[in-house]
Amino acid sequence: MSPLIGIAKMAAESPLLEAKRRVAYFELQGKSLLNRCSGQRKIFDWTVNPYRGCEYGCRYCYARYTHEFMELPVEEFETRLFAKTWDEATWRRDLRQVKPGDTVAFGTATDCYQPAERRYGLMRKMLEGLAGRTGMRLTITTKSDLITRDIDLLTELARRNRVWIFLTITTMNAELARRTEAYAPRPDLRMEAVAELARHGLDVGVSASPVLPWLTDREESLAAVARAAREAGARTLHARPLFLRDSAWAVFLPWLEREFPHLAGRYRERYRRGAYVDPAYHDWLRERVDRIRARCGLDNRADDFLLHRPTQLSLFA
Ligand code: SF4
Repeated sequence: MSPLIGIAKMAAESPLLEAKRRVAYFELQGKSLLNRCSGQRKIFDWTVNPYRGCEYGCRYCYARYTHEFMELPVEEFETRLFAKTWDEATWRRDLRQVKPGDTVAFGTATDCYQPAERRYGLMRKMLEGLAGRTGMRLTITTKSDLITRDIDLLTELARRNRVWIFLTITTMNAELARRTEAYAPRPDLRMEAVAELARHGLDVGVSASPVLPWLTDREESLAAVARAAREAGARTLHARPLFLRDSAWAVFLPWLEREFPHLAGRYRERYRRGAYVDPAYHDWLRERVDRIRARCGLDNRADDFLLHRPTQLSLFA
C-alpha cells in the first residue's frame, strides 16, 4: 500500500475528539475554511464546509466522495466526522479575499448545522466573523432546525448582504424521510424552521432536491412540500432530480435493494447513462415542478444566486 499523502494523511493522523454511540469526531487541520471555486462551470465563487462527513447519513447523499479524497470508505462518511480546525484570525484574513458581489455558499458537501455544530459551533463563529461585511451574496443550505439558533446573526448579515437560506425538505412524509434521511430532523421540524426564519424577515426557500424517482416525485408529494413551504412563508422552491455519482450509488443501491427491492431494476435503467437521469425525465420533472410552483405562488430564485450559470442543483441535497 502506498503511503498516504495530503488530506488523506492528515485525516489518518487526526486526533479523536469525541466518540458517541454511532459517530466519532476527529479534528482536521486545514489551511482555510474558505474554498475558492474555479472553472467555467463554477456555480459559486466560494464554498465553505466546516465539517467533513455528515451525521445525517442520507441514503442518496452525493457528498460521500469527499471521504474518498481522504482514502476512507464512503460508508464512513456518516460515522467518521471531521471538524475543521478553527482559528479566528485565519478566517478573518481569508475573508479579505471575498469581494463585494461574490457568492459564498455554506454547506455544499456537508450539513453545516448537523449535530456536530452543537459541539463545535463553527457556523456561529464564522457568521460572527462576517459581521460588518457588506455586499456579499451568501447561501446556506441545511436540513437542520438548529439554524434558527443563529437568527440574530443572520438577520444582521441580511441587512448589508444578500442572504438566501434553503431548508432541504424532500418529502413531508415522515415515515419515508426516516428511511431516506434516517438521522436528519423530521420534515415538520425543518418546516417550522422555515417559518421561524421567515417570521424574522429572512429570505428562505425550500429545496426538495434531490427528487427520488418513484419515491418523492409524485405530484401529490411535491405539491405537499410546496404547500407547506408556502404556508411557512418560504418564497422559493426548487427540486432537481437525484444525481448519483459512483460513491453515492455504492451506498444508495444496496439500500434500495433492501428497502425498495422492486425499484432497484428501474433505477438501474434510469441511471444507465451514468450519474444523471435521462433528459426526458429531467424535462418531465421540470414541467411538474414549474406547475406546482406556479400554483403555490413560489418562485425559482435559485437562478438568481446561481450567477446564471449551468447548474447541478442536486448539489443542494
Ligand atoms: S445529503 Fe446533505 S444532509 Fe444528507 S448526509 Fe449528505 S450532506 Fe448530510
